[in-house]
Amino acid sequence: KGDPRLEAISRAIRVVPHFPKPGLSLSSGDRRRRPRFCFFFFFFFFLILCGCWFLGIMFQDITTLLLDHKAFKDTVEIFVDRYRDMDISVVAGVEARGFMFGPSIALAIGAKFVPLRKPRKLPGEVISEEYVLEYGVDCLQMHVGAVQPGERAIVIDDLVATGGTLSAAIKLLERAGAEVVECGCVIGLPETKGQCRLNGKPLYILVGPR
Ligand code: AMP
Repeated sequence: KGDPRLEAISRAIRVVPHFPKPGLSLSSGDRRRRPRFCFFFFFFFFLILCGCWFLGIMFQDITTLLLDHKAFKDTVEIFVDRYRDMDISVVAGVEARGFMFGPSIALAIGAKFVPLRKPRKLPGEVISEEYVLEYGVDCLQMHVGAVQPGERAIVIDDLVATGGTLSAAIKLLERAGAEVVECGCVIGLPETKGQCRLNGKPLYILVGPR
């Protein structure tokens, strides 16, 4: 708090409403024939649209952060300063946006980078962990042998919402015998209480949603 780097990082993140789910689209009608009906139709439609806007997904786009050299560098450095002396040997990054921060952090702290990927992306033998999304289920996979028992790991992703993705990542690493020290995310959505699903593992967040 009060760190000017965090304010600049937050400002560098773009918010894209209703991505990836598209909003509602207006259809044309004959306004001259039924002016009153059309007025009320569009008025209620406008109200519904406002409601959707209010409740809709506000996608936190970190690609604009990557375009800002100083903000990107500061983001990596804040994580590096935190984890440098924690005896971490594994940085696990969650596909896809965890891959944009995790490798730089791993190189700087002298750890290996382990990609946690969506199904059918890793060519070797894998272990899998399913997790529940708002609508449906998803799955993360990790190569067998990527992590050795007793290694100290952190999990890096761009954002935590419900915490489902991070808890699947934690389970994968723990099944391989690693000790998960902490999960680190650039953005945390506070209203979703992601921390509850992390089985008591600490969560380190740089900024809130824009
Ligand atoms: P969750 O498992 O609910 O914590 O969701 C976190 C994952 O979904 C992360 O890998 C994010 O990249 C992605 N995600 C969820 N909500 C958003 C959002 N509002 N903006 C950008 N990414 C999101």
